[in-house]
Amino acid sequence: MTRRPTLADLPLRPDLVGAEPYGAPQLDVPVALNTNENSYPVPQPVVDAIVAAVAQEVAGLNRYPDREAVELRTDLARYLGHDLTAEQLWAANGSNEVLQQLLQAFGGPGRTALGFTPAYSMHPILATGTGTSWLDGRRGEDFTISADDAAKQVAEHAPDLVFLCSPNNPTGTALGLDVVDAVVDTAPGMVIVDEAYAEFAREGTPSALTRLPGRPRLVVTRTMSKAFALAGARLGYLAADAAVIDALRLVRLPYHLSALTQAAARAALAHTALLLGTVEAIKAQRDRIVTELTARGLDVVPSDANFVLFGGLADHRAVWLGLLDRGVLIRDVGLPGWLRVTAGTPEETGAFLAALDGTLQLGGALQQDGSKEKA
Ligand code: PMP
Repeated sequence: MTRRPTLADLPLRPDLVGAEPYGAPQLDVPVALNTNENSYPVPQPVVDAIVAAVAQEVAGLNRYPDREAVELRTDLARYLGHDLTAEQLWAANGSNEVLQQLLQAFGGPGRTALGFTPAYSMHPILATGTGTSWLDGRRGEDFTISADDAAKQVAEHAPDLVFLCSPNNPTGTALGLDVVDAVVDTAPGMVIVDEAYAEFAREGTPSALTRLPGRPRLVVTRTMSKAFALAGARLGYLAADAAVIDALRLVRLPYHLSALTQAAARAALAHTALLLGTVEAIKAQRDRIVTELTARGLDVVPSDANFVLFGGLADHRAVWLGLLDRGVLIRDVGLPGWLRVTAGTPEETGAFLAALDGTLQLGGALQQDGSKEKA
């Protein structure tokens, strides 16, 4: 019998040899709190509206969709506000595709992208995929970044793209606009603020959308995957100067956004208030997780997102496995001593806390408390 070929047998691009694919586990568990999805299903009136809108499109699927997705971009501009127009909006299959298109247009071989680690794990993966060299910038001990430090690191590396992520995944940390301004003023190239979790930010947390006027190198990306509870529909978007969108037209695939996706997203946007109705409940669970974990003596990072990063774990892998044994899947983000949990329903929070208590009692280990050291 001939041996099954492996990747090593193929003429892969040398810069991809040894690279790891994005790999959040997709396991069938009772409580899935590992990918920052919205735990609430799409409400029935929105289900009905999406089904009706998609049904309208089906007979016409013999034709290509609107390549420019003008109506959808108009709806997205209306949702964002800030006097944005459709010419300043762009949409694709998830904000991952938007970010990839930005790297295709403004990065590429011989160019560099800088992000402040730890941040969204796909930023470096998308950079590598587009042949863009990735530079790891630093954050402070508490995962914050000051305007001065950010500007210093940007000045040092002069990257072609800077990725800011606010609120940041996996830490939940939001950035002050002074950081955005300092980076835009210092960076020679494009500055992308990934605001996938913006709708969950606490009162008074500013959006970089307010900084777009007069800053043609600034881009703000958003998604319908989180607050809008539409991760499965794949709809991400950005707001920027119209010239940025001209650049993206050079790299996007023709008709990249299917007629079905455009129709589903528009139907959902017509029910924005209903869809975003879960945001306050999720924020309450986020705050409950922060309070409960703090009370247990863990290190907890203040969060403006729908997840919480917590640490002080002597063996975070053992805790992750202990939770999984109890049917609760959370995320090991590769930071020793830390884990990230998504805020979902009150019942899910309850299940997570009970599983965590069971795990820690069995010896999952708090680093700073010798009496609970792993057995
Ligand atoms: N940005 C950040 C910070 C994220 O955490 C995610 C999803 N985990 C994305 C972008 C991509 O989301 P999507 O492609 O579903 O829009």
